[in-house]
Amino acid sequence: MNCRDCQSELPDLLLDPGAPSTAKARAHVDSCAECREEFEALKATMSLLDTWEAPEPSPYFDQKLAVRLREEQARPSANWFERMRSRLLFNTGREFRPALAGALALALLIGGGAFADLANFHPAPPPVSATVTDLEVLDNNDQALQTMDQLFQDDNSADDASALPSS
Ligand SMILES: [Zn+2]
Repeated sequence: MNCRDCQSELPDLLLDPGAPSTAKARAHVDSCAECREEFEALKATMSLLDTWEAPEPSPYFDQKLAVRLREEQARPSANWFERMRSRLLFNTGREFRPALAGALALALLIGGGAFADLANFHPAPPPVSATVTDLEVLDNNDQALQTMDQLFQDDNSADDASALPSS
């Protein structure tokens, strides 16, 4: 057995020293200083982990968690899209998801990407109020429409100019 094979078997050797499957590794450890050192290091790590204890949760942890959960449940969602999103994310009815995903994709297209943070699954900070968002979207749309009007007007006046008889 070479050192690489032996070292990959060191955890088995440590956990079950008497097993016949680890006999070769055990023999190698006995004869190879490098692998013995590796084995001792692993053993030290394991015994250190044995002494480690998970910290106790703070008192009233359960109660605090329950209160937080109730608050989150009672908190009104920002808008219908937010509600749809949380329903999509937390709904247990899996068969319902594809349809909802399609509907949300459609809403995303119609919304012109105004809700592009849909893909961010981590809980976002409380969003700007839905009204502000809507106003911003309207403002953007208004600007786009004005630009389009401008273009059409330019187009028309250019047409008019060319249609006029040159005198
Ligand atoms: Zn070795």
